[in-house]
Order: sequence, then structure tokens, then C-alpha cells
Amino acid sequence: MATLFISDLHLCPSRPGITRHFLEFLAGPAHSADSLYILGDLFEYWAGDDDLGEPFNAKVCAALRALADCGVPLYFMAGNRDFLVGEGFSRSAGLNLLPDPTLVEVNGTTTLLMHGDTLCTDDVAYQAFRAEVRSPEWRQAFLALPLAQRKAQIEALRRESEAQKRIKPVDVMDVNPAAVLQALTFHRCTRLIHGHTHRAARHRLEVGGHTCERWVLPDWYEKGGYLSGDASEWRLHSWPA
Ligand code: MN
Repeated sequence: MATLFISDLHLCPSRPGITRHFLEFLAGPAHSADSLYILGDLFEYWAGDDDLGEPFNAKVCAALRALADCGVPLYFMAGNRDFLVGEGFSRSAGLNLLPDPTLVEVNGTTTLLMHGDTLCTDDVAYQAFRAEVRSPEWRQAFLALPLAQRKAQIEALRRESEAQKRIKPVDVMDVNPAAVLQALTFHRCTRLIHGHTHRAARHRLEVGGHTCERWVLPDWYEKGGYLSGDASEWRLHSWPA
């Protein structure tokens, strides 16, 4: 049985086709997996756990919960879109929250899991924004606002971010090679798995005399996809197959 990794689904009510593919994925490959890791940006945005009653969010959480109840361990690391998830979400969806980064043992290989945005160090403006919104003070103040006001602010931020993405050089939004090297060296591991950049690939690199691999997970825009790993093989899959 394999361990599965997904990220960057950006689920939202306005993209019902992708939501359907995701639900089919949960009932299909994920159902027979050893465990499922979701490495961020499951949702297009998450305004706070008090939005769990919203029918779309409730449907996604119930589907995850059903998989967890079948005995598949679920792990979730927040991305830049859904970093406001908390204990309410993890209880509702039946999953375990992971900090970014996290080290896990997969088939005997220590593996570094990240969402991936912290590796994009060339995007100085984004890193400054990230540092601000990930502070406990910002989180507490933002979550204290009424839900409707939070959603309106997130909408404004998303419009701003879309406009920025159109003018930022493409390379600025990819990982910085030195940041990748540093992460692998610091954590003393030979495998890194992350999402965020939407540039699905397997990269091989030499770090301190060791051959390392960096797996970038696919996004779920045109279609979905996932990474599977077991004792014999690691592979990226399209979904639906
Ligand atoms: Mn992201």
C-alpha cells in the first residue's frame, strides 16, 4: 500500500468539477492508501473554523471524515490559502494538523514535507506579507473580526494577489535553489515533497555528496493529481487517471 500526497486543490463552490474529482479521489485511490497527506491549499481560502457550517465546507469535511472513519490516517499542513484552519477543522474532518515544515518517515526514508511557499525566498514582498499574517497577534486580531468582514477582506487580498501574479516575473514565484539546498541540509534528509508552485515534477539534486530528490505536487486546476510512494516506487499520477 502506498502513501499519497496532494496539495493545491483550491476547492471552492465555483469549481464543482474539481470538487467532484476530489470526492472521487477520496473514494478511490485514497481509500486504499496507507495514509494521505494534504500539503496545503486544499481550499481556495479559509476564513476561520466558524465557517464550518457553510454547506460547501461541511461537505468537504464530511468526505474527509468518512475516509478517516474507514481507518486511513489523514494529515493536513496549511498552505497560504488555508492557514487559518484550526482545531475545529481538524476535528470536523478527522485529520491531524502538521506544522510546516514536518519530517516524516516514509518507507524508511526521512522525508521533509512543506507547503512550499517558504522556499520562494526571491519573492521578498510575499515573504514580508507571510511573516505578518502568520504572527499569533495578526491571527488573533483577524479571527476576532465578524466572519462576513473576514471574507470581504480575503476577497480583496485575493484580487490584489492575482494582480501581483500577473506582473511578477515567473522565476520569482518558483522556489529558490539555495533555499531548497538549505532545507535539505538543515533537516539532514534526502527527500523533499512540497506543493504551492503548481510545477509538478521530480527534481534530482546533489546535496553534500548525497543524491536527493524534490517532488513538486500538481495543482488541481485543469485536472487533479497526486504523488504516491511505497517500498518499490514513487510516482506522480494524474487524476482522473
Ligand atoms: Mn500555495
